[in-house]
Amino acid sequence: MSSRELTRRQMIAALSAIPGAMAFPTVSSAQGRGGGAPRAAAAPGVAPDPQVISDLVAANHILVRKGIIEVQGHISVRHDRDPKRYFLARGISPEIVNTADIMEFDLDSNAIDPTKGQPYLERFIHGEIFKARPEIMSVVHAHTRSVLPFATSDIPLRPVYQLATFLVDTVPVFKNGDNGEVISNAQQGAALTQALGKRGAILLHGHGFVVVGASIQQAVDRCIQLDINAQVLHEILAMGGKPVYLKPSPDAAAGRGGNARGWEAWMREETSR
Ligand SMILES: [Zn+2]
Repeated sequence: MSSRELTRRQMIAALSAIPGAMAFPTVSSAQGRGGGAPRAAAAPGVAPDPQVISDLVAANHILVRKGIIEVQGHISVRHDRDPKRYFLARGISPEIVNTADIMEFDLDSNAIDPTKGQPYLERFIHGEIFKARPEIMSVVHAHTRSVLPFATSDIPLRPVYQLATFLVDTVPVFKNGDNGEVISNAQQGAALTQALGKRGAILLHGHGFVVVGASIQQAVDRCIQLDINAQVLHEILAMGGKPVYLKPSPDAAAGRGGNARGWEAWMREETSR
């Protein structure tokens, strides 16, 4: 039975049985393209709570099932016992991510164990946001179709749906070149992070968006609500209507928690697959 076929409970039990830094089995290395050759590995650190890794694996699958990310998107989570580290899958389709695919990075986005695989080229989005925003525990980068028109037009993406009030007002658009270029180094990641400021989301011109959350549950929930908000806005415009935008207070950016009801339902779907 592959680890993908394990139930969540079995996965946690299996992880718990493996001590310290050996929590993640090494996978074959495929280095050399995009993102440059992995740099010198940072020192091994403390092992995370296995729940953090199992939630990250599940979040990859949930975001695929909800149509938020496809083969190109990714979600990360900060290390629960070392805030200067984060976890992100190696550069594969999120749909097939399992525990063995999770890599650990320092905040400069150096892989702690580069032999685990080829990282995502755009991992600098995650590292630079974690570096600048200590309250953020999870980052999602996606190219969700419903959101893309707002990233490359003069139509602002603003909240029209109460569960998306974390957007507060017009979501800013970050432009990285004229052709929707990917964020491929720390400098670009830092510029994106500066444009994000204290917000919960930012659009990338001709490319996609980034959402951040105070927990992995909140980040996943925000992506789903952002998608719904974008779809509702599409429908208003397609109906020939004029949106009457919501007017949340600026502190709505901190937003509600992780939508425990939603997460519970999504995890039930995950464990029954
Ligand atoms: Zn991208």
